[in-house]
Amino acid sequence: QRRRMIEHELRQALDREEFEVVYQSQHNLASGARVGVEALVRWQHPVHGKVAPAHFISVAEETGLIVPLGEWVLRRACGDAVSWTEPLTVAVNLSPAQFRDADMAETVAGVLRETGLPPQRLELEITESLLISDTDEVFSKLRRLRELGVRIVMDDFGTGYSSFNYLARFAFDKIKIDRQFVRNMTRDPAMLAIVKTIITLGKSLGVTVTAEGVESEEQATMLREFGCPEAQGFLYGQPGAPETTGTAKVTPIKRGTSAA
Ligand code: C2E
Ligand code: MG
Ligand code: MG
Repeated sequence: QRRRMIEHELRQALDREEFEVVYQSQHNLASGARVGVEALVRWQHPVHGKVAPAHFISVAEETGLIVPLGEWVLRRACGDAVSWTEPLTVAVNLSPAQFRDADMAETVAGVLRETGLPPQRLELEITESLLISDTDEVFSKLRRLRELGVRIVMDDFGTGYSSFNYLARFAFDKIKIDRQFVRNMTRDPAMLAIVKTIITLGKSLGVTVTAEGVESEEQATMLREFGCPEAQGFLYGQPGAPETTGTAKVTPIKRGTSAA
């Protein structure tokens, strides 16, 4: 019943444009410079206030509503990004259902054309769950997307089936280390080993690696020592409005100091 209610409300929310997109910055770990942002959807519910994606993305996926919602997020993110003074990249999350039910290459090409965003500034984040079935077809869809000039990012790496085979079969432009590994690496040697290994793997493959969920200076310092190129997390800022995220001045990150 709860799902049915959410589904009903999601349909209304799409009609009434109750969604918004917030942006979280991504930084070069060595210099501290901001290199891009990730677009994250929020639902401004008339009664419940701001609702996080964890509460509605799965229902949107099951009901197919993720197709119009995902396209709306993509259009909004690209439209916002063209107005920023800094030419930051903008990363948009895509759900497996969007690949199944829509022609993503056509959708993305249309949105780039409409908004005028240069394709090099758009990153599309997918998760391993996309690759567990019909892999050949999915890879050919990903190739078509990349031919547009956009970058393809493997999100939450290490939490799904993590087949190295995927990395061999498709040259992802970036791998994001899931935040659960980053969170636990300071106290769990196994997590630490996994983080180091993904960074090394990225280097060997010539792929950028972004550590997610970086919350402390201690974590940032460790990642920097391991040679991790980029980081994202509350240490650098909460997801926020485009005017405070996309165009604000970059605050340099103190290097090699412990958390104050
Ligand atoms: P994600 O793509 O891995 O996004 C990163 C999530 O980590 C965001 O949660 C962000 O707020 C959170 N985060 C960032 N830094 C930190 C940190 O330092 N510590 C902790 N604990 N968390 C941090 P959010 O916005 O709630 O999104 C959750 C997930 O929902 C996303 O995970 C993504 O899978 C999905 N999602 C969000 N927006 C969209 C969308 O437009 N389309 C689709 N298909 N999925 C989306
Ligand atoms: Mg993501
Ligand atoms: Mg992630």
